[in-house]
Amino acid sequence: MKKSTAQSKASETDWRDGFLFVGKNVCLDFINTRPEIDRQPQELLPDWSALMRWFRAAGLIERREALAFERKWAESSEAARTIKAMRELREELRTDVRAWERGGRVRAKTLRELNDLMSQHPMLTKVGPNSGRLVAERWFPLQEPDSLFAPLADAAAKLFSQVNASRVRRCANCVLHFHDTSKIGIRRWCSMRLCGNREKVAAYAARHRSSE
Ligand SMILES: [Zn+2]
Repeated sequence: MKKSTAQSKASETDWRDGFLFVGKNVCLDFINTRPEIDRQPQELLPDWSALMRWFRAAGLIERREALAFERKWAESSEAARTIKAMRELREELRTDVRAWERGGRVRAKTLRELNDLMSQHPMLTKVGPNSGRLVAERWFPLQEPDSLFAPLADAAAKLFSQVNASRVRRCANCVLHFHDTSKIGIRRWCSMRLCGNREKVAAYAARHRSSE
């Protein structure tokens, strides 16, 4: 259980615990768990322990709680089913995000699926004292592996309903998606380190070649 603001604490560095957090959005970071390295797709969520590591790195569950939960369900058929279903959801969301960021609509079947997931695994709110004032925090109960759908379905629903689609883009140089939260809104790359510099170097080399 963890508040949804965890993401905003995000990354000075692009890689965290073996994952990329360049999306500025939980749903996009989830989609970005299958990047391409040297044009080859890389599955960063091959198994249950990788999935749990991602949830911890994304700040969606507390470390101690995550470790106990991971141990409890390790090697279980439930965990294997969840990881498979989550990767399928990720690819469905990728298809929708790609259409939606180019002005298309989110498919009705995706909305149905998100609504089903949110009714089965809703995000909850609790209120309590924190540094002398009361704070309302969002959380979800960790009962079974499928409980992990709660923050993902919620993040996808919020992305499609609350974020301006023209501010969501695919990197100019790779398959990663991001929410452009910059003031001027002309972010082009997933990350300056990963793609920005590479593209600049390529452009420089091309200019250099053509001037020879
Ligand atoms: Zn990139």
